[in-house]
Amino acid sequence: MIELLDVSFGYGQDDKTHAVIKDVNLQIKSGEKIALIGHNGSGKTTLIKLCLGLLSPKSGRILVDGLDLSNRRELQKSRKELGIIFQDSYMHYFGSTVQEDVAFGPSNYHKDSFKIKELVDNAINLVGIETLRMRNPLELSGGQGQLASIASAIATEPKYLFMDESAVMLDMQSKELLLSRLFGICKNLDKSIIYITHDLEEISKFDRLLVLCEGEFTFDGKPETFISSPELWEKNRLELPSKFRLFNLLMQRLKSADVMQYHLEIDDEPGVYCRLYRDFFSERHE
Ligand code: ADP
Repeated sequence: MIELLDVSFGYGQDDKTHAVIKDVNLQIKSGEKIALIGHNGSGKTTLIKLCLGLLSPKSGRILVDGLDLSNRRELQKSRKELGIIFQDSYMHYFGSTVQEDVAFGPSNYHKDSFKIKELVDNAINLVGIETLRMRNPLELSGGQGQLASIASAIATEPKYLFMDESAVMLDMQSKELLLSRLFGICKNLDKSIIYITHDLEEISKFDRLLVLCEGEFTFDGKPETFISSPELWEKNRLELPSKFRLFNLLMQRLKSADVMQYHLEIDDEPGVYCRLYRDFFSERHE
């Protein structure tokens, strides 16, 4: 589990003026599929850099499976469990083939070349880039490059995988396929995904939604609760996607026409809501 205990952070010397993360508490458990959203500048990237030990909190503690990231030795030990893919990770490749780049991470942790090959093959297969394995990474398109960097991160077998808009260049179909395969890893291997996205329609695919607003968590719960509450979007300076607006409107109409009351237990409404949403838009789901 990753635990943030009263964590605050600000860039520069004057913490008060530049407070970016404000006294935040959070627990991320194994196997969770979490979407993280927030307005521009709300602190999403800063927050994940703190979780990865790339930045140190001004106050509070961060523990990864009990290891305290403020302790250099414990930070080093926890690194293996933490994976990150930034939006532009693919621009920092240096190998002459995709396969070489994907092998770079595992070769830091393993000496056995068979094990390294197995990890590389698995990651490349999972992400679906077999045809790209012998290509020069510098010749890949943006979307292909993002898939290659996701494969590189997966090949190191992190327990907690952070994705900071790292699939933004993929078309909808490739993204859905990728997410369903990543969700498969979460389920089968008890790994967690923390997925930052600006594509707010994607949140319905996740089990848990975190919303950051001006450095504080203003929502932590089921995506469907957020989707069905336009006032929450407004409060968090986010624009309700037109797809959700249309769906909410349709639900209201159905409810007022008494069509749904026959089927729905009122307590189960948020869950039913999200399932209906997925069905309505025929979204592929794990
Ligand atoms: P988000 O990812 O939600 O857009 P960020 O975590 O990137 O937000 O940024 C949060 C705030 O911190 C913004 O006001 C941003 O300008 C500021 N910030 C981010 N990185 C730096 C930095 N290296 N130096 C100073 N301020 C920064």
